[in-house]
Amino acid sequence: MKLPDLATDLARQFQRIYGRPPRWFVAAPGRVNVIGEHTDYNDGFVLPMAIERYCVMAADISRTSQNISIHDEQVGEKAVIDISKPVEKGNPKWSNYVRGVIAGFQNRGVKIPALDVLMLSTVPLGGGLSSSAALEVCTATLLESATGKKMDPVEKALLCQKAEHEFAGVPCGIMDQFISVMGKSNHLLLLDCRTRETKLVPVNDPSVELLIANTNVRHELGSGEYAVRRSQCEEAAKILGVASLRDATAEMLEQKKSAMSDIVFRRARHVIGENERTVSAAEGVRNSNWPTVGQLMYASHRSLRDDYEVSCKELDAVVEIAESIGEQGGVYGCRMTGGGFGGCAVALVKSNAIDAISKKLATEYRQKTGIEAAIFVSRPAAGATVLKS
Ligand code: ADP
Ligand code: MG
Repeated sequence: MKLPDLATDLARQFQRIYGRPPRWFVAAPGRVNVIGEHTDYNDGFVLPMAIERYCVMAADISRTSQNISIHDEQVGEKAVIDISKPVEKGNPKWSNYVRGVIAGFQNRGVKIPALDVLMLSTVPLGGGLSSSAALEVCTATLLESATGKKMDPVEKALLCQKAEHEFAGVPCGIMDQFISVMGKSNHLLLLDCRTRETKLVPVNDPSVELLIANTNVRHELGSGEYAVRRSQCEEAAKILGVASLRDATAEMLEQKKSAMSDIVFRRARHVIGENERTVSAAEGVRNSNWPTVGQLMYASHRSLRDDYEVSCKELDAVVEIAESIGEQGGVYGCRMTGGGFGGCAVALVKSNAIDAISKKLATEYRQKTGIEAAIFVSRPAAGATVLKS
């Protein structure tokens, strides 16, 4: 559903529940990372885009309470948060993403009014497309409107990241919140995770889109393996004598090959190569050089599969099918996206071939794995938006 239709829908439901129209209406998107995987905690580069899937909130001042009350259409639950005192962790569990953001505003001395809120999200929850950042950034955007305290985009993104760290207990990087705040339609965002510098990269060619295929599997080894990867990267950086792998080159790694185990060598080779690929891909996007960008995506996948070992057979299946469709069939490139061990793959495709590609991917994925994939396409979308203020 397009954003204006979502807004109309939600306004109608707000009227039904609260007996009056909403005063504010805000949205924040989910995201997909086009390239730059497992580079963030190595101070490297990522290249995400906001997708046309949103967390949306309609709201008005509450006339009867001291609470922020949120109806969640998604899970059919209501969260009631008392804002007359410092907000703490609480129930339901998902409300912690919201609570953390409210606490961030309170900590800045911002006076927050009681609110009646209706919320809906078209970002699949827990699907690797960052429904969590969409929820945080949507909350922050609503609070900006309702309090009149407009925040600097970087400060806003960091406030949301802190909410996820401290209230949801998830030690995430900065990518998800940055892109949900700063995304721009028809642009990717090249983000330097060391300096937090951002560069918008225009996607000028209307004939390409990003296709997202959710494998609908999540292998549980994910979180433990993540910690192992992080420490292997730290070990490599130490042997190479650099602060982080961001500072290392392929030549430096080759020279120290005998000083490290094969596994640590391969982990470092992925990160060093992925940083180069990400910067090259941004340049390729800027020049609408799609075959080059596509090859970089395939190379990223191979590196994640063979050197970093965070793929799985379902993700590999999607990439193999995409590769077999090839450029003639409208696929420039494809790779796993997100942490790995399941979740989504992202493909760069020709707009005019989307139906045929989606059909073939769905059919062959089902044949190979016995699982239904969820497939949709998106052009790069805008970041957090105020539709009614
Ligand atoms: P992702 O961000 O990739 O979707 P996460 O595990 O980081 O996956 O976040 C998913 C969690 O975020 C959900 O389990 C839920 O607690 C919370 N969440 C996000 N959006 C909503 C929503 N609209 N309603 C309720 N909970 C949500
Ligand atoms: Mg998340």
